[in-house]
Amino acid sequence: MQLPDAPWLHDLSLRRVIDALRTDGQSPRIVGGAVRDALLGIEVADVDIATPLVPKEVIRRLEAAHVKAVPTGIDHGTITAVADGHTFEVTTLRRDVSTDGRRAAVEFATDWIEDAARRDFTINALYADPDSREIFDYFDGLTDLKAHHVRFIGNADQRIAEDHLRILRLFRFHARFGQGAIDADAVRAASTHANKLMALSRERIADELRKLLSVANPAPAVQAMIDNGIFATFLPEIISDAGSKLAKLIEREQLSASKASVSRRLSAILPVDAAIVEKVAARLKLSNRLRTDLMHLATNAKSDQSARQLAYAIGPENARDLVLLNSEEQNWREELASLQDWEVPELPVKGGDLIAKGLRAGPVVAKTLQAIERQWVAETFPAEPRVREIADQLVAGALRDDKKA
Ligand code: ATP
Ligand code: MG
Repeated sequence: MQLPDAPWLHDLSLRRVIDALRTDGQSPRIVGGAVRDALLGIEVADVDIATPLVPKEVIRRLEAAHVKAVPTGIDHGTITAVADGHTFEVTTLRRDVSTDGRRAAVEFATDWIEDAARRDFTINALYADPDSREIFDYFDGLTDLKAHHVRFIGNADQRIAEDHLRILRLFRFHARFGQGAIDADAVRAASTHANKLMALSRERIADELRKLLSVANPAPAVQAMIDNGIFATFLPEIISDAGSKLAKLIEREQLSASKASVSRRLSAILPVDAAIVEKVAARLKLSNRLRTDLMHLATNAKSDQSARQLAYAIGPENARDLVLLNSEEQNWREELASLQDWEVPELPVKGGDLIAKGLRAGPVVAKTLQAIERQWVAETFPAEPRVREIADQLVAGALRDDKKA
């Protein structure tokens, strides 16, 4: 079996790294996601390289070839090679010697099979010779890839006990590459060990959740996770029918050619409750950006403002998300269309204009400006002549109040 030929294999920066790591006896090999995705005909995103050379030797050889070597994960034997601005992870063959479910102590190895055996799924343990394109498959990954079967290498219980993150990776990789039911043995093992997820760092959990929610259709996997108690420790707030809620959202995403969005999808599976969203964001240490978006989506879920008014208040992306999430079946396309090719306008009146109309500089200017803005938004952004009318009216009112005071 051979990897299909493709332009990425001839990429000059990749060739520089490969050439630097080639020895008389052995070539480095491409491994993992790149091989899997190339075989599936999916665009190859990053190329990981495996080599029997120890990290020190990897660095020495890369530098001799004028390729930058960054020791990003040197404890695990990973060096990031930067050639012409392109990065490649180069990892020394290794075997896991002790594992506590959270991190593995590793030993370097020279045996490809040992290196394959410590990887998680059979479809992630395929290697390819960069020159002959020959594929090395030690655990029947090719068969599983063809069958769209995401299967642990070895005993599922043991593999999950070694590294609990693999519970989440199981559902994510199934959502991405699996077809039909998830491997029954793997689900049983995942369910048995689900409470151990608590021991993982929240950043790692959140990162996996983010990746899961980014796949084309995570809905069935998310429902399977709920049904098997996987969320119980880190996201007990998840709504019980998250699967169908997500499925409905994804249907709209597909019909409107909307890109997947983590905030939109996470919002779909959480209760519409700002206090709960705050709690989840804090527990999972979500980024400020994600937290803010989730808060906007929760607090405006029941708003009666139009899509454009929402876009003005919380940005066009969040407004689109609210339409996709909450609008009635008969309205959502039209509301989405109202945001298409529409730029959020800027209030065409400034404080200086109000002073020119006779207002005294000071707090009354800001207050009047806000009142004008409210009116302008309520009338859904009328053009200049009408804004001037609104401004004249409200300035006149403010001047009257000022006299009375
Ligand atoms: P992606 O497209 O999501 O990056 P990938 O297969 O490259 O897919 P990574 O998470 O980047 O996945 O990991 C690279 C490879 O390292 C995997 O293909 C797998 O062989 C191995 N690997 C990663 N994480 C684990 C883990 N927790 N346990 C065992 N092997 C792992
Ligand atoms: Mg990868």
